[in-house]
Amino acid sequence: MTTIFGKILKGDIPCTKVYEDDWVLAFDDVAPQAPVHVLIIPKIPLVNLNDVDESHEKVLGRLLLAARIVAAKKGVATAGYRVVMNNGENGGQSVYHMHVHVMGGRAFAWPPG
Ligand code: AMP
Repeated sequence: MTTIFGKILKGDIPCTKVYEDDWVLAFDDVAPQAPVHVLIIPKIPLVNLNDVDESHEKVLGRLLLAARIVAAKKGVATAGYRVVMNNGENGGQSVYHMHVHVMGGRAFAWPPG
């Protein structure tokens, strides 16, 4: 099933791109929950962590490397930032194409609600 992020990958709907490489695309969240709120998605159509195995080591690693790059580009690396992946219903996932949230520019509470 094509999700809204699949349509962004195909260029069918626009995004504000922050970073891209051969494995991932990063773009601003349309409804930011912090001054910096970027989503990083794999270019292959993974659903969430339930959908991966050892063959996905490379793309999983690239998602976290991209998070580091995005945090630096957005100027929040030194102050600190949060990296989140919501998986499934109880995890709060609403778009079923894997994505990493990179959030910064304010302090976050722990544990999350
Ligand atoms: P999650 O709840 O973890 O699945 O996160 C989905 C995120 O996608 C939410 O933070 C939404 O604001 C964001 N989102 C939904 N549609 C778009 C879009 N077209 N462009 C950018 N972000 C989006």
